[in-house]
Amino acid sequence: MKIKTDENDEYRIPRERMVKTQLIPRGIRDKDVLKVMGRIPRHLFVDKDSRHEAYNDHPLPIGYNQTISQPYMVALMTQELELTGTEKTLEIGTGSGYQTAILAELSREVYTIERVVPLLEKAKSLLQSLGYENIFFKAFDGTLGWEEHAPFDAIIVTAGAPKIPQPLMDQLADGGRLVIPVGDRLTQELIRVTRQGDEFKRKNLGGCRFVDLIGVHGWKE
Ligand code: SAH
Repeated sequence: MKIKTDENDEYRIPRERMVKTQLIPRGIRDKDVLKVMGRIPRHLFVDKDSRHEAYNDHPLPIGYNQTISQPYMVALMTQELELTGTEKTLEIGTGSGYQTAILAELSREVYTIERVVPLLEKAKSLLQSLGYENIFFKAFDGTLGWEEHAPFDAIIVTAGAPKIPQPLMDQLADGGRLVIPVGDRLTQELIRVTRQGDEFKRKNLGGCRFVDLIGVHGWKE
């Protein structure tokens, strides 16, 4: 853990229930992912009026037509990145910053990109107030990646893409993992790409539904 959390807050019980009923029975086995999701205060990443729903089994609106992903989807994507604590990780789609916090706990450094400036600013001030010092923020089109800091050991895209953006493939380190939803605008397949030299191995992790990835190598606005 990189930050101090208050595990005895008023949401401890729903948070523990989330881990026990939504994550473990569906096959989330990575002990560190379970531990971190059992500690991060997800309720702080949603609007005040939806706090009582923060640990429920679905995504929630965060404004600007965007959503915080369902807890299980956050857990699955994180597990598939196989983080060990040494990684330089790139996240496209900061949104609420919830996924960012989890990545920051499990990686060495996180580079996160969001195209909606007010969302980025809000996530940045919350994550900084929680004490994270290993997260770097950028308001930009994430389909272009973050060239100056490449290569990345892990890349996660939390918005649905029509195809895998080439810059993200190029910026993946040898041995690195990329997790991204790919499909049409309504439904996608969650794809994991593992790079070995010039070889990119793909694995389909199943159906999912995300908001649009908008950008040069994504959907047009
Ligand atoms: N991980 C976030 C998910 C937010 S939803 C969370 O759980 O809160 C996806 C986010 O991707 C939205 O905030 C959206 O604005 C952002 N996004 C879409 N296209 C993008 C792009 N090309 N670059 C960066 N962010 C993008």
